[in-house]
Amino acid sequence: MTRGDVDVVVVGAGFAGLSAARELDGAGVSVAVVEARDRVGGRVRNHDIGGGKVVEVGGQWVGPTQDHVLALAKDVGVDTFPTYDTGARVLHFGGRRGTYRGTIPRINPVVLADVGRAQARLESLAKKVPLEEPWTAPKAEAWDAATFESWLRRNTLTASGRTLLALGIEAVFACEPGDVSLLHVLFYAHSAGSFQMAIDTGGGAQQDRFVGGSQLVCAKMAAALGAAVHLERPVQAIAVDGGGVTVRSGPDEWRCRRVIVSVPPLLAGRITYEPAMPAWREQLTQRAPMGSVIKCNALYEEPFWRAEGLSGQATGDGEGARVVFDNSPPDASPGILLGFLEGDEARRLGRADAATRRTAVLDSFVRYFGPRAATPADFVELDWQAETWSGGCYGTLFGPNVWTRYGHALRQPVGPVHWAGTETASVWCGYMDGAVSSGQRAAAEVLRALA
Ligand SMILES: Cc1cc2nc3c(=O)[nH]c(=O)nc-3n(C[C@H](O)[C@H](O)[C@H](O)COP(=O)(O)OP(=O)(O)OC[C@H]3O[C@@H](n4cnc5c(N)ncnc54)[C@H](O)[C@@H]3O)c2cc1C
Repeated sequence: MTRGDVDVVVVGAGFAGLSAARELDGAGVSVAVVEARDRVGGRVRNHDIGGGKVVEVGGQWVGPTQDHVLALAKDVGVDTFPTYDTGARVLHFGGRRGTYRGTIPRINPVVLADVGRAQARLESLAKKVPLEEPWTAPKAEAWDAATFESWLRRNTLTASGRTLLALGIEAVFACEPGDVSLLHVLFYAHSAGSFQMAIDTGGGAQQDRFVGGSQLVCAKMAAALGAAVHLERPVQAIAVDGGGVTVRSGPDEWRCRRVIVSVPPLLAGRITYEPAMPAWREQLTQRAPMGSVIKCNALYEEPFWRAEGLSGQATGDGEGARVVFDNSPPDASPGILLGFLEGDEARRLGRADAATRRTAVLDSFVRYFGPRAATPADFVELDWQAETWSGGCYGTLFGPNVWTRYGHALRQPVGPVHWAGTETASVWCGYMDGAVSSGQRAAAEVLRALA
């Protein structure tokens, strides 16, 4: 069954695809958004917890300098509120629990100095990576041939310092330091402003949240596009001929002049293209694996940790959740602790059954916040590794020799096929903000081509 002719088909209804479609629609260009899932939002998703409230099981935080997503949210009428960040944080490290205020934990000063020196080095190298073309950085070849793990070994003196920096990598990338090239980490840090911006709450990427949940922004964009959004239509093939482009999903077909593929490179590589993609593009998508994360929320009658002077933020080097936040709704009812399983811990517990996973996460919450954490009223998790239409999260991980060999292929259109998605952003790559700017950039490319 043919679904019709439009100027542009956008594949994917995440932040990137919907932002692209919104721009095109606003410019008077006809558009169809073709989405595989039965919902919009992609890597953001609200989970209904009753009483008109939600908890997010995908991307959620926004922060300063994320101007694209913040402007978009304002445009569609979604407010932000601050992440709960009052009181002491918990660090459970080397078998001992401690609390601290501010961003610097109370640990052995030698370890602290070790971490500080390595991070300062990282921040200064990151600034040397050009955001539009990371592969042109002065030492791009050497930085891209190294993993972050090998750099860490050379640039730290203490095992504890290495572990703490590895925890930072897990938190930002949902992977292990050996999974990514040094150049990838440097680019990503620069793209966020700095590594510190990526890990901070106040003043950083975790500063604020959306009232009503991040998916609400996507839902509002989709509502404005109305019948142009087609759900449960996984695109299997994109065929280019002399007269235009045909986008196929099962029996459905759209004819268009240009197409914007707004899915992660891994999933873009699973679409069949006629004619086939050039080898450089094909080889890029072969080398674009996704991170490993399971996001777990435990719901309690109240945020009991707040009364004990704790912010709900915790970090640890043990089993279970190693990064924890207070994820309660604005009125603090219920109290919610959010724990991330990332990298190897997500891989290990992703193979376990749900009960084992829940026990591991709650055991870690008990280590951080005491016995009351053991008995939540509800437990909501999402294993993004098992999501067919994401393939993992938070985003794409470039291992050694990918940026330098294939970085040029990320954004470069192939004939009438354009690429969007947070992975193609130069600023806040991997974040909702990067997704929005990438959609806007791809829409501008298409508008220029159609003019
Ligand atoms: C657990 C978790 C926590 C995160 N935390 C944050 C955070 O706090 N702050 C932040 O800014 N970011 C965060 N992120 C990352 C953020 O969610 C993403 O960067 C952003 O949502 C990506 O948007 P996108 O449109 O580029 O891609 P996606 O959201 O992946 O959108 C792509 C869409 O394409 C669809 N699709 C895929 N293949 C096909 C196909 N063949 N045919 C049709 N449709 C297809 C998918 O279903 C999806 O809807 C987090 C992500 C996760 C999972």
